[in-house]
Amino acid sequence: MTSEENTTLKDFLNLASDYLKDGHARFHQAIESEGKAGLPLAYLVEETNEEAEETAVEENRDEDSLEAVAADVGACKGCGLAVTRKNTVPGEGSVNPLVMVIGEGPGADEDAAGRPFVGKAGQLLDKMLASIGLVRGKNCYIANMVKCRPPGNRNPEATEINACYPFLKRQISLLKPAIILCVGNVAAQNLLKTSKGITALREERFAELKIGELAIPVLPTFHPSALLRDESKKRPAWEDLKLLKSRLVEMNLL
Ligand code: URA
Ligand code: SF4
Repeated sequence: MTSEENTTLKDFLNLASDYLKDGHARFHQAIESEGKAGLPLAYLVEETNEEAEETAVEENRDEDSLEAVAADVGACKGCGLAVTRKNTVPGEGSVNPLVMVIGEGPGADEDAAGRPFVGKAGQLLDKMLASIGLVRGKNCYIANMVKCRPPGNRNPEATEINACYPFLKRQISLLKPAIILCVGNVAAQNLLKTSKGITALREERFAELKIGELAIPVLPTFHPSALLRDESKKRPAWEDLKLLKSRLVEMNLL
C-alpha cells in the first residue's frame, strides 16, 4: 500500500467511525465537497425527502381557511388599533354565502363581543337582510374593512385599512360570495378605491371587485347607522335591497 492509499484508507475509516458515532452530518460534509455525482443512495434518498417536505409546506400555505384568517387576525399587531382593541372581530356567517356584507369596522358592542354588527346598527342590518330572504349564518357572511375597533368610533384611517386589507382579501377569496353588499362611505370608497361619495356610488349600481380570478359584483349602499340617523335614507336603501334581491333571482340563487 502506498502512503497515499494509506492516508485515503485512514480518512475513510475515520469517516466511517464518525458516521457510526455521530450520525451522518460529517459524512455529508465530506461527500458534498466532492460534488453530487455518484453520491451514495442514502444521500439521494434524504435529499428527495427534503424536497417532499418543502412541497408539503407550500401546499399547506395554499390551503387557507377562514379559521386561519381568524387566528392570524387574533394575533395581529399590524396597525395601531391592536393597542386599544378588547377583541378582534374577524367576521362571521355562512362559509358559502350568497352575499358578503362589508362594513367599516367594529364599534364598542362589536369590540366587546368579538362579533360584527351586533349593536343597534347590526340589528337593523339583520332586519334589512331578512326583508329579502338573507340570514346571517345561513346565506350571508358579515365582515368589516378593519378587524379592530377604531377608538372613540372614529373612522378607520387609510393606513389601518391598508394594513388590514390582506385579511379581507383572504376572506373574499375563500368565501367567493355571489355579491358583495358594501355598507357606508368608508367601506365603499376603500373597497372600490375611489374618492366618490356613497350617493354617486349607489347610482352606479354594481361596481366590480377583482381579486385574482374572481370578479365580484359590488353593491354600495347606506350604512345602517346612517339610516338610524336619517329616516329619509330608508326608502333609497330599500330600493338597493330590492335591486340586490332581483340580481340574486336573475342569477337563480334566490
Ligand atoms: N358598524 C360597522 O361598520 N361594522 C360593525 O361591525 C358594526 C358597526
Ligand atoms: Fe391587525 Fe387589522 Fe387589527 Fe390592524 S385592524 S391590528 S391590521 S387585525
